[in-house]
Amino acid sequence: MSESDTPFRAPVGTHDVWGPAAALWEGLVSTFAESAYRYGFSLIVSPLFEDVGVFVSGIGEASDVFRNETYVFSDRGDRRYALRPEGTASVVRAFIQHHPTTPFKAWYVTPAFRYERPQKGRYRQHHQLGAEAIGTSDPAIDVEVIALAHSFFRAVGLTKFRLLLNSMGDENCRPAYVALLSEFLEGRETELCDEHQTKWRANPLRVLDCKKPSCIAVIKEAPRLIDHLCDDCEAHFARVRAGLDQLGLTVEIEPRLVRGFDYYTRTTFEFVSDALDAAQNAVGGGGRYDKLVERLGGSPTGGIGFGSGIERLLLAREAEGVDTPLLKRNLDVFVVDTTGADVATAIAAELREAGLAVDRSYDERSMKAQMKVADKSGARLAVLVGPDELASGEVTIRDLRRRDSATDQSRAKREAVVATVTELLVNVQKND
Ligand SMILES: [Zn+2]
Ligand SMILES: [Zn+2]
Repeated sequence: MSESDTPFRAPVGTHDVWGPAAALWEGLVSTFAESAYRYGFSLIVSPLFEDVGVFVSGIGEASDVFRNETYVFSDRGDRRYALRPEGTASVVRAFIQHHPTTPFKAWYVTPAFRYERPQKGRYRQHHQLGAEAIGTSDPAIDVEVIALAHSFFRAVGLTKFRLLLNSMGDENCRPAYVALLSEFLEGRETELCDEHQTKWRANPLRVLDCKKPSCIAVIKEAPRLIDHLCDDCEAHFARVRAGLDQLGLTVEIEPRLVRGFDYYTRTTFEFVSDALDAAQNAVGGGGRYDKLVERLGGSPTGGIGFGSGIERLLLAREAEGVDTPLLKRNLDVFVVDTTGADVATAIAAELREAGLAVDRSYDERSMKAQMKVADKSGARLAVLVGPDELASGEVTIRDLRRRDSATDQSRAKREAVVATVTELLVNVQKND
C-alpha cells in the first residue's frame, strides 16, 4: 500500500515524530529538563484541555487567536473546554488551585494547538518547552529565566542567536504611553500597512511589532515606551539589564518588542536566530505577566515565563548546520540466533541486565535474513549463535562496523558473553 492509499493519515497541520528526528526531539527535551533542573525548576504536567475560561481570561474572547485559532469543544457532559493554545495559562491556573510555596518554578513540555493555515514551521499541533516562575516580581528572577533560556540554546548547539529585550511598563505608565502613541499614529495613519490603517485603534501597541515595511518605517519615528516608564518600572528594567550584564549576556534593547495582551508587564524578551528567515526567526521568548494571576481569579502575584517551540528550534539547528547528537541513542548489541531463539532470549536478557541496549530478531529467520536486520539496526556488535556455537557452548561476536579486518570476529564462551561483550565495547569505542 503506498502512503496515499492509507485509510488514515495524521490530521492536516500535524506530524508524527519518529526515527532519527525522535532522538533529536528526546535530546532537546532532556537537555531542557537538565537546564531547568539546574535553575531550580521542577516539572509540571497539566491537562491538555481546560475550562475555556482559563484561556479566555488570558487571551480574551475577542482576540483573533481565540476566535480563529483556538480549538473549542463541548464534552458529553456539555462542559465547554479548549485545547491548550499555549503553555502559560494552565500553569497559572494550577498555581492558583494548589497554593504552592513561592516562588513556584515549573517547567513543561507540551503540545499546543492552534487552527493555523498549515505551512512550513507552522502546525496545528506544535510542541513547546517552557518555564514559569510565579510569586515574585524580583528582577533577579527575570534574569534567571532569561539565563536559563540562553544556556539551553547554547546547550543544544545554537550560536547564531541574539537576545532582544524591552520593558512593557505597567498599569501606571503604559496608559499614558498608549495615549502618546495613539496621538502619533493618528497623524501617520495613512502611512501604515493596509490592516493597521483601519485597525490600529483596537490595539495601538500591535502596530509596534507589525512586520510590514510601511509600519516599520513609521514606528522608527514613534515615541518609545522605555522612554516613558514610571520610576518603579525604570528601576526594575535597570536591574534586569545590570543582572544580564553581570552574567555576561549581551542584549539588544528592542523598543518594538511588545506582546499583544495587557496582562504582560515590564520585562519582555525574545531570542532570534540569524540563521532563520526574519519573518519566523524567534526561537523562544517570554516576559513578565504580573496581571495574569489576578485575571485567572488569584490574588495579585507577579510572574514571568519563557517558551520555545521545538519545531522552530529544530529548524534553527538545521539552518545553522548543527548536527551534534544530543543523546546517545544507538543499540550496543544485536543478537542473532538460528537455533530456535531460546539462547537469544537468554543472552538478550543478560546483556540488558548489564545495562546494554540490545535488540534481536524474531520469527526464526535464516542467518542471512537475521544478519541483514542486524546490519540495519545500527548496533555496534552482533552476538551470533548457530548450531556450531551451540554445540561448543560458545558464541561468535562480530563488529558490525569493521567487517574487513581479521579482528572483526571472535569467539567467546557462552557463560562469559556479558564480560566479553562489555570489554569489546569499551575497546571499540576507544578506537572510534
Ligand atoms: Zn501594520
Ligand atoms: Zn510603570
